[in-house]
This record gives sequence, C-alpha cells and structure tokens, in this order.
Amino acid sequence: MIVEKKTLLSQHAFGSQHWVGDGFPVRNLFPSNGVADEINPFLMLDYAGPAHFPPSDQPRGVEEHPHRGFETVTIAYQGSVDHRDSAGNAGTIHPGDVQWMTAASGVVHEEKHGREFTATGGTFEMVQLWVNLPAVVKMTPPRYQSITSAEIPSVDLAHGVVARVIAGELSGAHGPAKTFTPITLVDLRLAAGSRATLELPAGQNLGVVLLRGEVSVQGQPMSGEAQIALLSPSGQALELGAETDSLVLLLGGEPINEPVASYGPFVMNTQDEIRQAVADYRAGRMGSLS
Ligand code: MN
Repeated sequence: MIVEKKTLLSQHAFGSQHWVGDGFPVRNLFPSNGVADEINPFLMLDYAGPAHFPPSDQPRGVEEHPHRGFETVTIAYQGSVDHRDSAGNAGTIHPGDVQWMTAASGVVHEEKHGREFTATGGTFEMVQLWVNLPAVVKMTPPRYQSITSAEIPSVDLAHGVVARVIAGELSGAHGPAKTFTPITLVDLRLAAGSRATLELPAGQNLGVVLLRGEVSVQGQPMSGEAQIALLSPSGQALELGAETDSLVLLLGGEPINEPVASYGPFVMNTQDEIRQAVADYRAGRMGSLS
C-alpha cells in the first residue's frame, strides 16, 4: 500500500508569554500567534515551564474559575498539579499522568501545584491543551478522566523513538483517553540521531509541537523551544528525525466544522450561548468548590 505523505504547511513560534495565576509561567503555542483554523479541533495550548520554583508553604496556581463547552487536557512532565472541581473530582497529576476534563455544560475548578512539589520545590513543566466539543455535546454533563502514566501505552517506533499514546491509535497501540471526536494525542521522545516514519490517520489536522530540542519534520529543520509545525489533514505519513534529544507532542484531530464563539473560559457556537454561560456562572449554576 502506498502511504501518502502529509504536507508541511507552516511553522510558528509561540505567541504570548504570560503567567496563568501565580503558578504557571506559560508560552502560548496557539492561538496567540494567529494559529487557529489549521489546528481545529484544538483551541489552545499553553506550555508551562520548565521553570524552577523554590520550596514554599503556600501552593501556587489558579484559584477557582469556570469552563464550559470544551475539554481541558493537562499533561504533567515535571512537578505535579493538584486539582479539585465542582463535580466532586479531586486528584494529583504526577509526571507522566494526564488529566482529561470534559467541562461540557460547566465546571468550576482550581489548579494548584501539588502539595509535595510545593514543599520541596523543583522544576515544573506541564502542558494544558483545550479541545473543542461538537455542539451536541457542549451542554451534556461534565466528565473526568484521570489517566495515570502506567495506563498510557508506550511503543518503540524506531531505535531511540518512543511514543506514549494518550488518545487515538499509533502503531497498533491505543490511547486510554475517551474522546468525542477522532483525536490522536502522542507524547514523543526522540534521542539524538534517531528517525522514524509514523503512519497517522488521514483526515486529521496535525500539529507537531516541539517542546524542546532540534528535529526535522518532513525533512525540514525545526529547532528551539515552544514551536509548532502544521501539517495537512490529507496524507498519513509523517517523517521525523532528531538532531538532539527532543521532546515532541503530536496533536492530531478531525476538524469540527461548526461556528466558534469564545469568551475567556467559555467556548460555544453563538454569542447568545456565551451570554448564557456568563449568566449561568454568575448565578452559581456551574456549581462551586466546597
Ligand atoms: Mn482551568
């Protein structure tokens, strides 16, 4: 069978650089750099750290805030995140773990550095990705998937290329995350000098996020930190190579072809639905933290 190559469309540096609360110094990979439609159904990606935090007795982070209409996916690399929400879920996301929170009709939550990490201090590194939901799911009850590192299958794609499949399928490995639309989310580690050709589903937009390192994507060089390459939904083959040890996150997803109306932590389809979300939050209809 002939596998068509995906077309490399463009490469972008991160856009804004800012703090989320007092715990997350982030570089925003999109949409602050103008990347939006080409990475649909993904709405936003913040790369926090790597940053050093001294020991403290007060957990840093983001206080209680709402979300509606989409999913927040938190991937911990170094350090940990404590989370609790109005649906009664609480837990700690440790390095290698992924929390996939479907806000849907509405959740209020707080995100803080883990208790132990706060006490010891150290290097903090995390990604938060926002995944849009189709209109039919936006007002359904929230869902919470706490995925531990041990539940995420790891595959050796080639010598020095290790993939952890969080969602979707790659090389016969299936990610544990349940999604509402087809998504391929893969944590990739490439050793210096390694290369591999990956076969990905056709019909999905693809972002190759270089967190750090020096790689080639379809033969084109890409280096530095917090960069993203965008590839066509057509084709399946992705050729990656690494000049230095590199950390990459693959974001594949079938686009959701519906209007997007967004306002801060609310992502709906119309402005009326945004007004309703603001009213519902103010009236306490998304719940509160106990
Ligand atoms: Mn949040």
